[in-house]
Amino acid sequence: MPSEHDRVTIVTGAASGIGRAVVERLVDDGGSVVAVDLNGSALMWTSSHAEADRIAVVAGDVTSADLNDAAAALALDRFGRLDASVLNAGIAMSGDLLRMPLEELDRVMDVNVKAVVLGIRSAVAAMRKSPSGSGTDRGSIVVTASTSGLAGDPTMWPYNTSKGAVINLVRAAALDLGPEGIRINAVCPGPTETGMTTRIKSLPSVYDGLRERTALQRWGQPQEIAAVIAFLVSSDASFVTGAAIPVDGGITASTGQFLPIPRTPTS
Ligand code: NAD
Repeated sequence: MPSEHDRVTIVTGAASGIGRAVVERLVDDGGSVVAVDLNGSALMWTSSHAEADRIAVVAGDVTSADLNDAAAALALDRFGRLDASVLNAGIAMSGDLLRMPLEELDRVMDVNVKAVVLGIRSAVAAMRKSPSGSGTDRGSIVVTASTSGLAGDPTMWPYNTSKGAVINLVRAAALDLGPEGIRINAVCPGPTETGMTTRIKSLPSVYDGLRERTALQRWGQPQEIAAVIAFLVSSDASFVTGAAIPVDGGITASTGQFLPIPRTPTS
């Protein structure tokens, strides 16, 4: 792969939250990005970025194979190569296990799992067409999973099911893609302040309950998830594949039996 300075990456879910922070981080590091989101008008933030010439945008639904192919084709046409893909677009869903219409489960599985398969297929095809750089690190794919893929949450079984599935997809795909030097990893964010969690902020007991369950006693910021994704994209992570890395303030370090004991700096 080329150096960080001319690396080309697709980022899905780029209009907001973690995806936007990833675009900003990769462009700040000197790379170029194809930014993809369902919400085309919300992608307009990219046009006022100081390095807007290194950001191309595609509006559409990641559950479409054509959309994924179009993003990969744009990377090749506009920037001449594709080195990495951050498959980050996702939706949350909860519901009554015994009553929720199964069409709703289909939608969360389509966005959080099937679209990742489509994204992998399009990215690998474009990576194979890209001029290979020096070394054995031919490409990197990062999937935004969740701590909710590592264990269960009350009423969130559709989201838990989709994120658990995508973590094991990453492990299996690592075995299929590794022999040609393409790495794939998952990050598992804990509670992070984004558009997805805005509603929780208006529910103080839920917001504080999540904060109290982290070892660090706080929510994460999208830039803190983006930093780990940028590492996985980079050649610094050249021997990391098939991993599911919690970026969660320590929430999954706990058995969940006891809450961490809050301390002030002087106590
Ligand atoms: P967000 O809602 O701020 O951003 C998600 C973006 O994905 C939005 O811009 C949305 O328009 C886009 N998107 C949704 N469905 C799409 C589709 N079908 N096609 C194209 N774009 C689509 O939320 P976020 O928190 O930044 O979420 C990013 C990822 O992080 C998701 O996969 C989410 O499950 C995961 N995650 C978030 C948290 C958290 O606490 N915020 C925790 C764990 C995992």
